[in-house]
Amino acid sequence: MEETVTPQVLHVATEMAPLSKVGGLGDVVGSLPKALRALGVDARVLTPAWPGVLDRLRDNGAPLLRSRERIHVALRWQVFSARLWRSEWDGTPLFLLDNEELFGDAIYPDTLTPDSALPFAFLSFAALEVARRPGWDATILHGHDWPAALVSVGLQWHRHYRSHRNAFETVLTIHNLAHQGILSPLVLDEWGLDRRSFSMEGLEYYGQLNALKGGIITADAVTTVSPSYSWEIQKPDGGMGLDGVLTAERQKLSGILNGLDLDVWNPARDESLPANFDTSDLRGKTKCRQALLKLLGWEDDGRPIACFIGRIVEQKGIDLLLPSLESLVATGARLVFLGSGFAPFEKALRERAARFPHDLAAHIGFSEDLARLLYGGSDILLMPSLFEPCGLSQLIALRYGTVPVVRATGGLADTIIDVDGAPDGYGFLFSDYDPEELITAFRRAVTLYKDRKRWTAIQRQGMAKDFSWKASAQIYLRLYKKLLGLD
Ligand code: ADP
Repeated sequence: MEETVTPQVLHVATEMAPLSKVGGLGDVVGSLPKALRALGVDARVLTPAWPGVLDRLRDNGAPLLRSRERIHVALRWQVFSARLWRSEWDGTPLFLLDNEELFGDAIYPDTLTPDSALPFAFLSFAALEVARRPGWDATILHGHDWPAALVSVGLQWHRHYRSHRNAFETVLTIHNLAHQGILSPLVLDEWGLDRRSFSMEGLEYYGQLNALKGGIITADAVTTVSPSYSWEIQKPDGGMGLDGVLTAERQKLSGILNGLDLDVWNPARDESLPANFDTSDLRGKTKCRQALLKLLGWEDDGRPIACFIGRIVEQKGIDLLLPSLESLVATGARLVFLGSGFAPFEKALRERAARFPHDLAAHIGFSEDLARLLYGGSDILLMPSLFEPCGLSQLIALRYGTVPVVRATGGLADTIIDVDGAPDGYGFLFSDYDPEELITAFRRAVTLYKDRKRWTAIQRQGMAKDFSWKASAQIYLRLYKKLLGLD
């Protein structure tokens, strides 16, 4: 009888929603392994037990086994060790690294230094230890973003781990090229990497060490989170200094669109919403809208509510939004911001909201509940990103009947069809990173909003789109099989 070989995949990541999350990376690591398991892949996750993670597992009744094992990794001429917890989330087995010194703070440091990068070096090298636990041998190590890029770097250039090179195939997924892990070359010795790796063909980047560059060069396959983004990053204006490396490695580069976990993002069952709804009956959405208005202390004057949910950073188009706020309101809409990020942007938003309390609101911070109420109760989602590797906010908004106004870049261009471009369109696109273009697209949305029948039809088109993991998980499976020589 022919033996069926199952890819055994260890996902290595700093975030996993809902246990830990800063942005879309957390959503992906919280949902892709589950989708892969549904296809028969033995996918598991290795992630740090950041503050609150173990409690969240316990509170949700997840099995939590404190194994006797400790994971030891030598960094900086001393041995760091973490307790290894085994657990399970939504059917996906988890390995959690518990060490308060390394993982006792915010997930990402404000500034990256050899000190503040230690948790990420530990996570990557710990993957090479965990992957060889008795009882389960990973065949594929799948790292996410630069903090896990050292997995394949370690297999290639670490004085101890390189002996494991032939045991694994490696995949690196780039969720955001803006974060590369650029550090002083001093860490080479501190992390146990061969000094010969510090060359143009290796980790060196303008005299510094670039962890993501190392990952791109050493991984067996590199993926980005949308097809468009995989092309954009090969060009000088999208490559953030790595376009040359990415072009040279393009044979192993592909773009696989992120999916949504439809159980997690489902307006028909979302318990945090004041009322539920689906395509066939949108009355619940009106109730969500009323609850949102009440929370904001706004009367319903018939104007559409447009929300922005995301990190308040340049990438998300805050530079376009700030000078456009008055003009956007003048089109006949009200705006709500939820997010945090760059302090001067946060301050500017707070000031504007204070100046126009009936038209603008800004909630600076991270709130899953408020995010859900905004997706459920708003009419429009604003996402004028400068660049967008994939973007999940627009996909969530679609599912919640909130019509996106987005800039046509990266994953936004791959997922949104303009209402004026096709009969089955369900969003509003603009191309140039220019306030006038944003305002024009937004005005088209606000004008169309008045045509209630047409607007409802557009909402329904968007809600009916399938942005689940169904198609994309298959593509990852094909990639794993190819790497393992199983196809
Ligand atoms: P990115 O990964 O670049 O931050 P994405 O659109 O891919 O952007 O994913 C953002 C995810 O994080 C979405 O699930 C969004 O709802 C969530 N999110 C972003 N900011 C906040 C916030 N302040 N509060 C709650 N959820 C947030």
